[in-house]
Amino acid sequence: MSFSELGLSENIVRAVSEQGYTTPTPIQKQAIPAVISGGDLLAGAQTGTGKTAGFTLPILQRLSTSAVTPKNKLDRRPIRTLVLTPTRELAAQVEESVRIYGKYTNLNSGVIFGGVGINPQIKLLKNGVDILVATPGRLLDHHQQGTIDLRQVEILVLDEADRMLDMGFIHDIKKVLAILPAKRQNLLFSATFSDEIKTLADRLLNNPAMIEVARRNSTVEVIAQKVHPVDRDKKHPMLAHLIKTHSWNQVLVFTRTKHGANKLVEQLGKDGINAMAIHGNKSQSARTKALAEFKDGSLTVLVATDIAARGIDIDQLPHVVNYDLPNVPEDYVHRIGRTGRAGATGEAVSLVCVDEFKLLADIEKLIKRQLPQEIIDGFIPDPHAKAQPIQLRSGGGGQGQSRGGGNGGGNRQRAPSPSAPRSSASKSSTGSAQGKPAQRSGDARHPSRPVVNQSTPRRSGGRGNGNGGSN
Ligand code: AMP
Repeated sequence: MSFSELGLSENIVRAVSEQGYTTPTPIQKQAIPAVISGGDLLAGAQTGTGKTAGFTLPILQRLSTSAVTPKNKLDRRPIRTLVLTPTRELAAQVEESVRIYGKYTNLNSGVIFGGVGINPQIKLLKNGVDILVATPGRLLDHHQQGTIDLRQVEILVLDEADRMLDMGFIHDIKKVLAILPAKRQNLLFSATFSDEIKTLADRLLNNPAMIEVARRNSTVEVIAQKVHPVDRDKKHPMLAHLIKTHSWNQVLVFTRTKHGANKLVEQLGKDGINAMAIHGNKSQSARTKALAEFKDGSLTVLVATDIAARGIDIDQLPHVVNYDLPNVPEDYVHRIGRTGRAGATGEAVSLVCVDEFKLLADIEKLIKRQLPQEIIDGFIPDPHAKAQPIQLRSGGGGQGQSRGGGNGGGNRQRAPSPSAPRSSASKSSTGSAQGKPAQRSGDARHPSRPVVNQSTPRRSGGRGNGNGGSN
């Protein structure tokens, strides 16, 4: 199956080929025809599956084959597609994809998000863009200031909708929906299907085609995963030890809190390890700089919180370290999916202390396998150590660090764990994963029914009028 067989025109296929992509990924095979048909779409897909091209390519196709009628001769290009994303990084990345894939079309794009000056964005909007990628808060700022006109939006994409809800954007999303024209095509992408997402999908989508795909590198299959049991206060020396002894030169490290990220950067710096942090309290320029240096290989360690790391796409990232286990098991799958991409082999190691045994058990339950454990010489954990409550937040504003429910996250108590380190004698070197990928289940409308993989959209016609009462 080729991209042109999916109904994309030559000028779009050409741009895709230039990126070296010849075969559509599973989500692209299903989403592209579904979106070209004009219907709504509910897609269960994470970063790493090729989802961005899955919606970008058919949108370019639709917009380039249907003309707009300017209201008068002076009219600038109207915004015909609005893509909402939870984070600035993801917004920038999605817009870059639109630009790359759309380079041989006559469509243009722009991106707006908070944390940077508004004036260049006002200018951009004045000049007119066909496809706008935005984070919800800044989009509403523009609306309030009267610097944006969304009356001609034909297609709305909510990308990583679950994250947007986790980050408390539901009210912003509702406000945006109320501004948009009622007749439009809606595409909702989400990695998970909490009750909140189901409610949103019910409100937003009209008889959607439904697609769910596993990760392209389905978590547990190609990524070597390992747990290193360690005492709480030995995590930092252990990380420095691992980086130095294995000469790791590009490591993405996840911490639970912003404070934890800052502290670790400082500690690694004292060890002579070049590290920077990326999280919601950092300025946009600091975040962009850290990411750019990490991508080009000049920064050894990027320390990130889950939300800030969302959407970071780095080809062939060799090492991911869970310095702290995530509070929500699904985040483990997102985190380790950063490595082993595009066929590269990757390694994901988790430094787990006594406080985190329950979190580890939850993760192992989700991914349906036990992770191999390896005790490192010189870091044998104290068998008598007592669990302490986990600090879930750094406090302060910015982007939240823990998810507010929906998936069983939040302030969970630790309990004696079936998954406590399986004795210090259980030294294992079986780093490679064998288990089956975790299955997500649940039809967004009918939780008891599995989501069906559809290669053809459910509806062949346009979406008609009305938007399922989303306004
Ligand atoms: P995404 O899931 O959209 O974040 O994409 C993950 C990565 O897959 C990005 O680096 C894309 O450039 C890449 N990608 C997208 N489509 C394809 C494809 N058909 N073949 C190979 N790689 C792809």
